[in-house]
Amino acid sequence: MISFSAWWATEQAGGQAVSLSQHTLDDLPPGEVLVKVAYSSINYKDAMAITGRGKILRQLPMIPGVDLAGEVVSSTDSRFVPGMSVMSTGWGVGERYSGGFAGYARLKADWLQPVLDGVSPRQVMAIGTAGFTAMLCIHTLQQQGVLPGQGEVLVTGATGGVGSVALMLLAVLGYQTVAVTGKLADHDAWLQALGASRVMDRNLFTQPARSLESETWAAAIDTAGGAVLAGLLPRIRYGGVVVACGLAAGHALNTTVMPFILRGITLAGVDSVMCPMAVRQAVWQRYLPLIPWDKLASVTHEVGLADIEAIGQRMLAGQTSGRYLVRIDGSLDNE
Ligand code: NDP
Repeated sequence: MISFSAWWATEQAGGQAVSLSQHTLDDLPPGEVLVKVAYSSINYKDAMAITGRGKILRQLPMIPGVDLAGEVVSSTDSRFVPGMSVMSTGWGVGERYSGGFAGYARLKADWLQPVLDGVSPRQVMAIGTAGFTAMLCIHTLQQQGVLPGQGEVLVTGATGGVGSVALMLLAVLGYQTVAVTGKLADHDAWLQALGASRVMDRNLFTQPARSLESETWAAAIDTAGGAVLAGLLPRIRYGGVVVACGLAAGHALNTTVMPFILRGITLAGVDSVMCPMAVRQAVWQRYLPLIPWDKLASVTHEVGLADIEAIGQRMLAGQTSGRYLVRIDGSLDNE
C-alpha cells in the first residue's frame, strides 16, 4: 500500500488544526488523475491556509497547497498518461479540494496542464501561482495598452513572490520599474538586481493622500491593496492603468472616483484561480520563455514539507522575500 507524508487539516472547535502526518491514497478525494507530487510552492494564500488566518480551507479534512507539479501515476482521462509531467495551480485546489502539500494528489483532469517542453516540474513550481499571477498582471497591462517607454511602472509588495517575478519580467520586456517595499533598508540592492530601476519606501504611499496628487506613474501592479492601493491611485498619470491582484495591506479600499473621472485611469483586477485554461496556456507560453532563470533562482528558497508552517507564519508577518519552492521528498514514502 502507498503511504505518504501530507499536511492534513481537520476541524477543531473554533477553527482548524493542521499537522504533518502519514496518509494513504484512500485519504485523497475522487478524481481522474493521480499525480505523484514532486514540487509545490508556498504562496500568500497557502500561508493563510496553513496558519488558519482567513478561512481558506473549506472542505475539512483536507490537504492544503494551491500549487503542485509532478508525474502522472494513473489516469482515466485520455489527455494524461502515466509518466507525463503535469502541473496545477488554482481551481480551488488547496482551498476546497486537497492540494499539493503531500506526496500524492488526485485531481480532475481539467485542472491539470502538461509541464511545457524544456522546463521541469521544479522550474514551474519556482514560478507557481505567484509567478503566474505576475504574468497575468503584465498580460493585463499590455492588453490595456501600457507599453515600455511610456513611463515608470510601480510594483508594490516588491520583495514578495508576485512582486519579485513581476519586476524581473517587466525588466526583460524593457519597462522602467519602481519597486515599492516595506524592506527598503535591507532589500534595495536585492530589488535593483531583479531589474527595478529604483526602489521606494512603502510608507510614502500609506500617508493620507488628496483625491488627486501630482501625476507621476504610468501604471502599477499592486499586490498590497488597502492603504497602499488607495495611496497610489491619485498619483497615476492621465490614462494610466493599475492592475490589482492582492490584499497584503488589507482588502478594504478607501478612495475617491476622482482619478477615474478626471484622469481616465483604469483599475483592472486579476484572478489566477478560475482563470480559463485557454488564457492560462497562452500566458504561460508567452511569458515562460522570458523568465530570467538565474534571477529567479537567486530569489528562490528550496524548503521541505516540514518547513511549510513556519514559513507561512513568517510570510504573514511580512518577514519573507522571493519564492518558496517545496520539495516533496518521496524518500519519506512507502510503497
Ligand atoms: P508574499 O507574501 O510573497 O508577498 C507579499 C508582499 O507584500 C510582502 O513580501 C511584502 O513586500 C508586502 N507586504 C506584506 N505585508 C504588507 C502590509 N501589511 N502592507 C503592505 N505590504 C505588505 O505573497 P505573494 O506574492 O504570494 O502574494 C501577494 C499578494 O497577492 C497576496 O495578497 C496574495 O493573496 C495575492 N495573490 C493574488 C492572486 C490572485 O489570483 N489575485 C494570486 C496570488 C497572490 P514588501 O516588504 O516588499 O513591501
